[in-house]
Amino acid sequence: MTRPIAKPANVKARTRRRQVSPSLLRAALVLALAASCAFAVPVVLGALRPAQSADGAGLPPVQVALSGLAAGACMSLSPSGSNAGKTVFIDPGHGGMDPGVVGTVGGRQVLEKEVTLGVGTRLAELLRADGYRVVLSRMADSSVTKLSATDSVAGAMTASAVHRDLVTRTLCANSVDASVLVSLHFDAFDDPAVGGTETFYDAARKFAAENKRLAVDLQ
Ligand SMILES: [Zn+2]
Repeated sequence: MTRPIAKPANVKARTRRRQVSPSLLRAALVLALAASCAFAVPVVLGALRPAQSADGAGLPPVQVALSGLAAGACMSLSPSGSNAGKTVFIDPGHGGMDPGVVGTVGGRQVLEKEVTLGVGTRLAELLRADGYRVVLSRMADSSVTKLSATDSVAGAMTASAVHRDLVTRTLCANSVDASVLVSLHFDAFDDPAVGGTETFYDAARKFAAENKRLAVDLQ
């Protein structure tokens, strides 16, 4: 079960995701960090990791060897600071044909997929500087799974394609032996008075206590 943690002063705790139409989304964007530890299937692809060194900042991102990836998806970045020996998986939500929330701020259209990518990319820089290897589920405006013509109807991903895309994100996280998985979303709500940060974690996993600690820390 996924449990929400929300700052009570800002957000009424809720367990369901947004269900409002985009036209109602004038509300403040709510940052939802779905955090859970991705403890790992034993390393399958360790040998494919890029070299980790103190000057890893200059190394280009490397795509993890996983089948069915879109271009620019599941990209590994070496630490740019002294190597902490851990991998953090960052998942900028949505992407490509899936815009996520379509909102309006100051008369300008804001797409959730763009905000998650911007925040995820910045977060990756900060973590790399702290010595973490970072794997981003995507580094561009794209899906993570490779899509075919049958995966979309009238410009929108089918439900099965969306599901496969989510599964591919978790496969990516597990294949790189990530210690932590952080999925970034900017949800919206039809009541503009509602705003703040909420984190979701999986309370059913054997590492639920660590999950919760991370979820609270992220607040
Ligand atoms: Zn989202």
